[in-house]
Amino acid sequence: MNFKEELTEYPILSSVLEASEGLGEQVYLIGGFVRDLILKRPSKDIDIVTVGSGIALAERVAALLGPQVQVHIFKNFGTAQIKQGDLELEFVGARRESYQSDSRKPAVEDGSLQDDQNRRDFTINAMGISLNKKDFGELVDPFDGLRDLRKRIIRTPLEPGITFSDDPLRMMRAIRFATQLNFDIEPDTFEAIMAMKDRISIVSMERISDELNKIILAKTPSYGFKLLYHSGLLGIIFPEMIELQGVENIEGKGHKDNFYHTLQVLDNVSETTDDLWLRWAAILHDIAKPATKKFDKKVGWTFHNHEEVGARMVPTIFRRMKLPLNEKMRFVKKLVRLHLRPIVLTKDNITDAAMRRLLVEAGEDIEDLMKLCRADITSKNPLKVKKYVQNFDLVEQKLKDLEERDKLRNFQPVITGAQIMEAFGLKPTREVGEIKEAVREAILEGLIPNELEPAYAYMLKIGAEMGIKPIA
Ligand code: ATP
Ligand code: MG
Repeated sequence: MNFKEELTEYPILSSVLEASEGLGEQVYLIGGFVRDLILKRPSKDIDIVTVGSGIALAERVAALLGPQVQVHIFKNFGTAQIKQGDLELEFVGARRESYQSDSRKPAVEDGSLQDDQNRRDFTINAMGISLNKKDFGELVDPFDGLRDLRKRIIRTPLEPGITFSDDPLRMMRAIRFATQLNFDIEPDTFEAIMAMKDRISIVSMERISDELNKIILAKTPSYGFKLLYHSGLLGIIFPEMIELQGVENIEGKGHKDNFYHTLQVLDNVSETTDDLWLRWAAILHDIAKPATKKFDKKVGWTFHNHEEVGARMVPTIFRRMKLPLNEKMRFVKKLVRLHLRPIVLTKDNITDAAMRRLLVEAGEDIEDLMKLCRADITSKNPLKVKKYVQNFDLVEQKLKDLEERDKLRNFQPVITGAQIMEAFGLKPTREVGEIKEAVREAILEGLIPNELEPAYAYMLKIGAEMGIKPIA
């Protein structure tokens, strides 16, 4: 199998060929780039392996490309990198690895191309393409990765138990590639993941979450979560999610399986957004349902306050999973907390005040919140679905009208704390906060418009009621 033709798309490789000639070393394209070339998924990362020094090869290539080209050397790893336009070339010497049981960091020594291919995670990631004169473009595929690509299968090159035991992160990677590429995991490989799952504990949470986030960003993330669930990995890395699974029956009444519901919501929202954090909000929107579940003889299963309890679980989960604790986390928390509010707004005789409150609380995130709510419709009854969708259409229209009228998105009452202190000659005390809050409430309730004069007058009135006199 020869890929000379396909490689003409990357003229820079002729410089690599020339450099390999000059050094008299054997040089190959390797890994994800080869896989993606065959799958016709254009990729910007080009991994190149040489049976020799990766750094020396990179320097030679750079010299051929011209004086302006820089080589970034990573001495500790023995690798070097060249950036050309939007391409990133990574050069590494072929190596052989051996592992100790307590670490996923192998002892490394120089090796042959075959050694290097042996240490790779999956057959589809272990293919090489020659960049040497004698057989330029020729596929070097000792594990028949090509067949697995065609059969759409993830399989380890060596015995899967050893592969996963050596580096347990590969278990996450197997599921990640299966999800990204929509491939199956070959049965022996999957069984080895089930058997080795506990070894994931030697992998840092950051690396695990990196892979998990790639799964979440795939086209159909539910597939990855199902693989994680059935392999047993999900229970180790994300136990809260396992709790969602299952249906309890009392007196003939069941509730929906919140695990599969959540996955459906995640897939739904993924059709409307590539935003990782909105997808995370979908994953976590019902996370407190198990903790709040009760059976009521009259109404059946209830999950009172699960949105609030769930919101409070978000920081804990983010901290453990080493996800950011910044505004991304606060966004997810907010969406979890608010995810039922638009549904309340679909009820009849909803006041403008309730609408205004939601707009103020959601602020810039109102569109994302509505996306989440629409994704949350997973009823199998098309009539119900239609009704829910229409309800949300209506809510969205009302929100829009209100927003146009009141500009509530970045709502700040016109009266500030400083103005209150000045008007009444107060120090920063509880009273100041109370007056401020009262003015804010009056505006949101629509008692007064958000304009200086009426708000100021209202402030004086509240002050009078509290027995506080303005200074003349
Ligand atoms: P992508 O860049 O889309 O995530 P990739 O296959 O290029 O996919 P990288 O993480 O960039 O993945 O790794 C490049 C190559 O290095 C892989 O194709 C694989 O051959 C090898 N590799 C990476 N991580 C491991 C690992 N943990 N164990 C074995 N081989 C690995
Ligand atoms: Mg890569």
